[in-house]
Amino acid sequence: MDRIPAPGEPAQLFIDGAFRTAERAESVIEAGTGEPLGSGCAATESEVDLAVSAARAALPGWREVPVAERAAALLRFADALQSRASATRELCSRENGMPLALSRGANGAFPAALLRYYAALIVENGIEETRPSTIGHTIVRREPVGVVAAIIPWNYPQALAAMKFAPALAAGCTMVLKAAPETALDALVFGEAAVEAGLPPGVLNVLAGGPDAGAHLVAHPGIDKVAFTGSTAAGRKIAEVCGRLMRPVTLELGGKSAAIVLDDADLDATIRGLRTASFVNNGQTCHLNSRVLAPRSRYNEVVDAVAALAEGLRVGDPLDAATEVGPLVSARQRSRVLDYIEVGRAEGAKLVAGGSVPADQPHGWFVAPTVFSEVDNSARIAQEEIFGPVLAVIPYDSDDDAVAIANDSEFGLGGSVWSTDVERATDIARAVRTGTIGINDYQLDMGAPFGGVKSSGMGRELGPEGLAAYQVLKSIYRVG
Ligand code: NAD
Repeated sequence: MDRIPAPGEPAQLFIDGAFRTAERAESVIEAGTGEPLGSGCAATESEVDLAVSAARAALPGWREVPVAERAAALLRFADALQSRASATRELCSRENGMPLALSRGANGAFPAALLRYYAALIVENGIEETRPSTIGHTIVRREPVGVVAAIIPWNYPQALAAMKFAPALAAGCTMVLKAAPETALDALVFGEAAVEAGLPPGVLNVLAGGPDAGAHLVAHPGIDKVAFTGSTAAGRKIAEVCGRLMRPVTLELGGKSAAIVLDDADLDATIRGLRTASFVNNGQTCHLNSRVLAPRSRYNEVVDAVAALAEGLRVGDPLDAATEVGPLVSARQRSRVLDYIEVGRAEGAKLVAGGSVPADQPHGWFVAPTVFSEVDNSARIAQEEIFGPVLAVIPYDSDDDAVAIANDSEFGLGGSVWSTDVERATDIARAVRTGTIGINDYQLDMGAPFGGVKSSGMGRELGPEGLAAYQVLKSIYRVG
């Protein structure tokens, strides 16, 4: 962004190809300092209505743009985001506390890369295919689902937005994107880049606001599909509304994923992997491996190693390239995480690392990386999503027991298996009920579907499946 609105200044939103002054503003607070960072828009219902009208008006034109031209526009959009990436990733780290080293990819390189991926895919796949039929042949068309309401949380704001607008725009949909209030500022970058890329007005509209603005958008008669990432609680409410309206919906929700450490695991390599799998983004990650399942035969060894990992992580300024764990996004989120640490203690789990606000971090919303051992999988800290740097190390007796414990969860989003025997680990991965799982690592793959089962959500993003989520199929039966 050339210039984000300073605290106290009027906020901005992006509708119909132009920035406008928002009716209401809400300060965005810098996670690392607790000081106001800028003025974010708190969209009103009438502003949501305007954005939906703009997206509706743009739909007939955008859906008819030939695929190659749409792809070219996405490539220009990618370039425009890429040229701003270094400022954007720093802004995101200020907003939500994400360590800069992580923000570099998630909020910098990834959105542009994803736009390029879907630009290539829509050209490669095309939108029609012909199949032989009993009367002649059938044309199967993949048409855009229409106007999309995209709602994102604050934890990976640029990446999660791109996971929606890149396939949606490629498919020929138009969109209203609602960012979370905590990350209202970086969302404006999308408007600026859309103008530079020459996206037709109304194709992508961007605003920020809280649950009321989100709920108004979800139920709006001008919306054809909802794409939501956020908490399971909000996802349930949105699914109810969409069910009543018979409106397609994709839900990417919470998780409580398990890292299964097998008895033959190379513990040093495992701990190097858990550094990101279990602590990435200060624990504020939906696919966080927040349960570590350790064989009883090596339980003490694993607990000691995980505790040492937590104690050794560099906690500090998210803008310092060496920082591994930054602050949580807000005072509210920190209270929630500290409350869960108290719950763990009260449940009788043994605190082996962290457990409090680090003494050398008086400003911002820091919580020391925390590890509990002697945790039973039925404990609240093993069952509920904490969304902070808090791990539970849980013992198991056999491979089957490990799978049963991993599956004894309301959620099913991520997970990992750690072993020197990749085939054995892969067999275990096949038995875990989850949408995604890693072997000796956990890294998203933009070419493969990402999403959850059970209370972790419905539908998939990324890969060809992520494009299909914005298309509806039409069969045209032709004689001869
Ligand atoms: P949240 O559900 O409170 O808010 C997320 C977004 O939804 C925000 O933009 C918010 O304003 C909006 N919102 C809230 N209630 C709404 C409603 N009733 N109708 C419409 N919009 C509504 O989530 P949060 O606590 O801010 O974010 C963290 C959650 O997001 C965690 O549970 C995390 O696991 C989940 N998450 C999931 C994924 C995934 O891909 N599965 C990725 C990132 C985060």
